Amino acid sequence: MNVPNIVNMKITVYEIREDEREAFRRLAGNLKLEIVYVSAPLNDDTVQLAAGSNGVTILGYSKVSAGILGKLKDLNINYLSTRTIGYNHIDLAAAKRLNIRISNASYGPYGVADYTVMLILMSLRKYKQALFRANVNDYSLTGLQGREMKDMTIGIIGTGRIGSKVIDNLSGFGCRILAYDTYIDGNVKAEYVSLDTLYKESDIISLHVPLFESTSQIINKNSLSKMKEGVILINCSRGELMNIADVIIAIEHEKIGALALDVFENEEGIYHFDRRTDILKNRDMAYIRQFPNVIMTQHIAFYTNSAVDDMVSCGVKSLISLIGEGRADTEITYRV
Ligand code: NAD
Repeated sequence: MNVPNIVNMKITVYEIREDEREAFRRLAGNLKLEIVYVSAPLNDDTVQLAAGSNGVTILGYSKVSAGILGKLKDLNINYLSTRTIGYNHIDLAAAKRLNIRISNASYGPYGVADYTVMLILMSLRKYKQALFRANVNDYSLTGLQGREMKDMTIGIIGTGRIGSKVIDNLSGFGCRILAYDTYIDGNVKAEYVSLDTLYKESDIISLHVPLFESTSQIINKNSLSKMKEGVILINCSRGELMNIADVIIAIEHEKIGALALDVFENEEGIYHFDRRTDILKNRDMAYIRQFPNVIMTQHIAFYTNSAVDDMVSCGVKSLISLIGEGRADTEITYRV
């Protein structure tokens, strides 16, 4: 992104996390920015704190409705960046109507791609059970036999930045790699097939499509019925890509052989918080976690030092670029 050396702008940073502060401090110093930090999300109660800012930047807990966008407009704020790749928490149609320019983050796909391969291997080698058992001095082999990557057909749904990097990562394992995407990328080192063929032939299926109407609950009773018995499913994308009730039934009937989820429907308010002493009401999350063949992590696939630096830098620089030059590489202009 082409950003001048020194700019004279004020930016309000919502949902500031402690691990982001150093990167913001560096940028503020280098670019002579005035930054207002707000730990809460952007909402009806906090929107006024942005008064006088040229732009605002948020994370995923700010639900940017038409109402919130209208209030930003009233404050004469026309630029908003989300320091996340996903942007389904922003009403893009309303932003377009109000002429508020939106950008997202474009941190490297490597962290999520690495993590996906880790979850594939952990599932294939039954690592959750091996780890749990070793912790109580149970070193038996029963039930821990795994399979080898070279014998696997792995189906990747969504071959964008992350999906294509997962495919690169997998290329050294000697597995067969199938891919499905609405856009066929000639540089991707996988065999593009129809979705039905991918379902039918894959031993392992990993989801890397964004959450759109067209992708919501693509893993459901119907798609599961087309998959192999004992299929391994990996979701590092969005929880809502799966109909979790159908997935639970498929685990109970051993149609799904293993499941690894870094994301979960209605994870908001749970993941990234310490909720140890609270009563949690997400029953599906609690039930599905207890299966021996289900691995769940708290939406951390992205979480590397390099990605956090990129997210902060992108969140700030895209605003500066949009305000100063009228364009930014990460502006969200499509599918509105
Ligand atoms: P991307 O936009 O580069 O790639 C998405 C791909 O999905 C594109 O190739 C697009 O053509 C394809 N696609 C869109 N709709 C489709 C459909 N209906 N059928 C088939 N293919 C379709 O996005 P990305 O950077 O690779 O990220 C993918 C997703 O990963 C994000 O949207 C986000 O939900 C998730 N994500 C998760 C984490 C995490 O920490 N777990 C971190 C970053 C991103």
